[in-house]
Amino acid sequence: MNDDPHIHVGADLNADAATRDLLASTFGLAGDLPSVVTTGCGQRVPRAMTSPLPERVTCLACREHAHRQHLRYAEQVERLADTPGLNVTREQARHAAAEYRALAAQFSDPDG
Ligand SMILES: [Zn+2]
Repeated sequence: MNDDPHIHVGADLNADAATRDLLASTFGLAGDLPSVVTTGCGQRVPRAMTSPLPERVTCLACREHAHRQHLRYAEQVERLADTPGLNVTREQARHAAAEYRALAAQFSDPDG
C-alpha cells in the first residue's frame, strides 16, 4: 500500500520535455519512458506520482534535488555549445541554460 501523498520529481527530472527534446535532437536519443521511476529522494514510485513541474512537486527533498539538477543541466548545456561536432549554437545553449536556471529558481521557492 502506497499512502505517500507527495508528488516527487524523477531522479532524471522525468527526462523532462526540454531535456528529452534537446537530447533527442542532439544525440538521437528518445527511448520509451518506464512506468516506475526512481525519484530525486531515492524512492521508486509510479511515474504518475512524479512531475517535472515546480508547482506540482510537494516532496521537499525532491525540490532540492530538482533545484541542483537544473543548475547542473544549465552548466552542461552551456558546455554543449563549445563541443565540436554538435549542432548546438551558443544562442540555443544560452536559451536552454536560462530556462533551466528559471526552473531551478522555481524549485527553490517553497511556495512553488
Ligand atoms: Zn521525493
